[in-house]
Amino acid sequence: MELLRGSRVVVTGRTGGFSTGPYDSRNLGANVGDVPLAVARNRALTVTEAGADGAVFMRQVHGVNVEYVSGPHDGVPDTDAVFTDRPGLALAALGADCPAVVVSGPGWTGAAHAGRAGTLNGVVPALVNALRKAGATELTAFIGPGICGRCYEVPEAMHADAPEVMRATTRWGTPGLDLRAALTAQLVDLGVPPTHDDRCTLETPELYSYRRAPRTGRHAVLTHLP
Ligand SMILES: [Zn+2]
Repeated sequence: MELLRGSRVVVTGRTGGFSTGPYDSRNLGANVGDVPLAVARNRALTVTEAGADGAVFMRQVHGVNVEYVSGPHDGVPDTDAVFTDRPGLALAALGADCPAVVVSGPGWTGAAHAGRAGTLNGVVPALVNALRKAGATELTAFIGPGICGRCYEVPEAMHADAPEVMRATTRWGTPGLDLRAALTAQLVDLGVPPTHDDRCTLETPELYSYRRAPRTGRHAVLTHLP
């Protein structure tokens, strides 16, 4: 468990849950083909183990919509970032290569799902701005595990269109993208220097990776105020 200024952060893995087959076993994603009852049990277990009273999950669409939340929800529609001031309410951002980002300050915490599109379109700056507008100060951030720049191969045109800080080269010498570098730069620009989980999802069997296996589950980064 990570501790940010104000919030507790938990990064989940694959073990200890109820899902089987390609979702084995702590899949937290509701729309990936897994048995709904298994996902519900995995979510309930994870929230309890994290020490929270309830949780908010999102129906993530690689967008930049940010929502304030005040109670449990099993899938906030069309949303990739949520924030709250309610103690004990865990906010979950799901991923299977896309990094999740937590931004917290005293009395406030937020979570965002930041894949390529979300990073390019600024979902994390949108979350920081929403938190500040609500009155949050002294913000710090945490970037969860994600696919690394040496594994995340993309077409040459996509690489050329990306901001320079996001461009990388894969370990086999082709165009790649480094989402963590881009997210770090965004957060530093906003005065919210992040810490991060340095694991690459593709290289870490304990985490889900869409690039490793398209039919797979989702881990999560959860944050809650104590
Ligand atoms: Zn990697």
